[in-house]
Order: sequence, then structure tokens, then C-alpha cells
Amino acid sequence: MPADDLDLPRTMRALVKHHAGEGLQLDPERPRPTVGPLDVLIRVQKAGICGTDRHIWQWDDWAAGRIPVGIVTGHEFAGVVAAVGDAVKTVTVGQRVSAEGHITAGRDYNSRTGNAHIARDTKILGVDRDGVFADYVCVPESNVWPIHPDIPDRIAATFDPLGNAVHTVMAANVSAKTVLISGVGIIGLMAVTVAKAAGASRIYCTDINPARLGLAKRLGAHEAFNSAEGNEWMRTVRDETRGEGVDVLLEMSGAPQAMDEGFRTLRNGGTAALLGLPARSVDFDFNANIIFKGCTVLGINGRRMWQTWYQMEELLLSGHIELDEIITHEFPIGRYDKAFETMISGEGIKVLIDVD
Ligand code: ZN
Repeated sequence: MPADDLDLPRTMRALVKHHAGEGLQLDPERPRPTVGPLDVLIRVQKAGICGTDRHIWQWDDWAAGRIPVGIVTGHEFAGVVAAVGDAVKTVTVGQRVSAEGHITAGRDYNSRTGNAHIARDTKILGVDRDGVFADYVCVPESNVWPIHPDIPDRIAATFDPLGNAVHTVMAANVSAKTVLISGVGIIGLMAVTVAKAAGASRIYCTDINPARLGLAKRLGAHEAFNSAEGNEWMRTVRDETRGEGVDVLLEMSGAPQAMDEGFRTLRNGGTAALLGLPARSVDFDFNANIIFKGCTVLGINGRRMWQTWYQMEELLLSGHIELDEIITHEFPIGRYDKAFETMISGEGIKVLIDVD
């Protein structure tokens, strides 16, 4: 692309997937993205490390098959608008913004019928095109989300995963219902506080990590069970739900055993919302778990544009969502290796990179 004449540095720092193998590299002189007519250039302030970024760091089979070598990684962020293209009308320089990281041309069937989150041509920031672990990122105006003045950057940097949690919880309609959350990683923990804020009557959690289970209880889970210690918990949950099982299952683990136990603990006619991604095809009892159960199964991908974002903002402004214990660490971009180590080891939950 031709260089633009903006009064901004021509190069920037960026965390780049520099080779087909483990790790990332900090490039101190990556060319800054140029700004097309409909683009918004954002100076990144804070960015979150996601499970997706861990896959890219570790270069597992998924990453090797999907990620173009040379890409700037990262997709969760908060920043300030540094420049806008000539045709941009709704965003101004200096505005605090985040952005929906799923980018579509807006022309396919789902984009034109209110379901852009499952558009056929979706390109993901930091996966399919240059992302946010950099001083600057460029996104289309139509993907920009203004940050409410009462929401700080460290919270806004988690809109992407928090939006996954909000999308899952709201899709399953949890108000005055019993809920089982299987898997309390970052998004599962967020789902606990979101489900509580959204009026779930009782929240049960399962995981194999005692520390995360303890945090789930502090965030509002009625009970948190270690599923590595057997499945007696399933009887407990059924006993406490009139012998029926829970009204709603939010599957956040992608672990085959957790999926099976979760469905078996779901009452007949209940709703299961599935966000966790199994690593490979799963052997699953459709007859008992779905067909004879007569349950509703929802696949959850991304965030609804922009319903989820409005719901997320309202929930945050209500003061009922607790993220302080979920956002555990923050490192300057120069210490990116320590940031990834903290996230990958499990010592940190949501780890932020301070780019400013
Ligand atoms: Zn993410």
C-alpha cells in the first residue's frame, strides 16, 4: 500500500508471528498500517491475551493451519482514534474506542439479515489480518465501538471475551433459571458474573482447577464442583432441582467428558448454549442427550452486532459485573514473553498487555 501523509510515525512496535513455530517476536519497526477511505486508525492502549493467542504462540495444529506467518497478532483491545479515512463520518480523532474483531464485507446472506457474527466471509483481527498487539491497528469504521466514558480501558480491553460470555448467557435466557456452567476458564468465569447479573436463580459450575472453582464461588456460583473427583455432583444438582436437572447448560470447556456430563445434568426441554471448542471430533450420545431430552442446542460464535455490545455496556454500567479478580495481570509490551508465560502457566487469568 502507498504511504499516507499523516503526521504520525511511519513505523511502530508490533508483536509478530515471525516464523512457523513457537513464540512471537517484537518488531520495533513494523510499517504502520495505512488508512483507506473507510478505515479508522487506532492507537492501541491496552490489549488482552486470549486463548486464541496462546494457540498462535504455541503453534499447534489449528494455528499452523490457519495463521499466516508474518501477521501481527492480538484482537482484544481498547485505544484512541489516531486518524480516520476521508469517507469516515461517525468516528473522530481522539475518541476512545474498541472494535468488533470479526470483520465482514457486509454483503453475504447473514450480514444482510442481522447475523453478521456468522458471516461467511468473516476475517478475524489478529488471526486473518493484522491485529492489536501493536502501537496502531486499522479497522473499518463499521466495526468501531465507542467506549462509554465510565468504562475504563482495562475493562474495555476485555470486550471481546466478555462479549462471548454475554452472548452465550443472553442467548440462553437465564433469568429465574438454574444454570450449569461447565468450564470456568476466562470466559466461563465471566459467564458466572454475567449470569448472576442477568438474574439466574442458581449457578452451578464444574472445572478441574480448584483455584478457578473458588473464584467462581466468589463471583456468585451457588456451588462449584471439581469434576476430576468423580460425578457425584450430578446427583447433587439433580436433587437440588426437583430431580429434573438444570434449566440451562452453558458449555465453556470443549472437554468431551464435561459436555456429556453437562447434557446429562440438563433437564428435559432445557437449553444448552455451546461456546467451548473441542480439540477434535467428539463421540457424543445424541439420543439421550439431545433427541429424547427434547432440548434446544445453540452454537455460539462471536458477539451479535451490535445487540451483544449494547447488552454488555448496560451490564457493565449496572455495576453488577465483577471483573477485578478475573483481570489479574498487566505487562508492558516489551515484556510480552513474561505476559504470555503468566497466561499459559495458568498463574494469570486475563492478562493484559499495556501498549501505551
Ligand atoms: Zn479473544
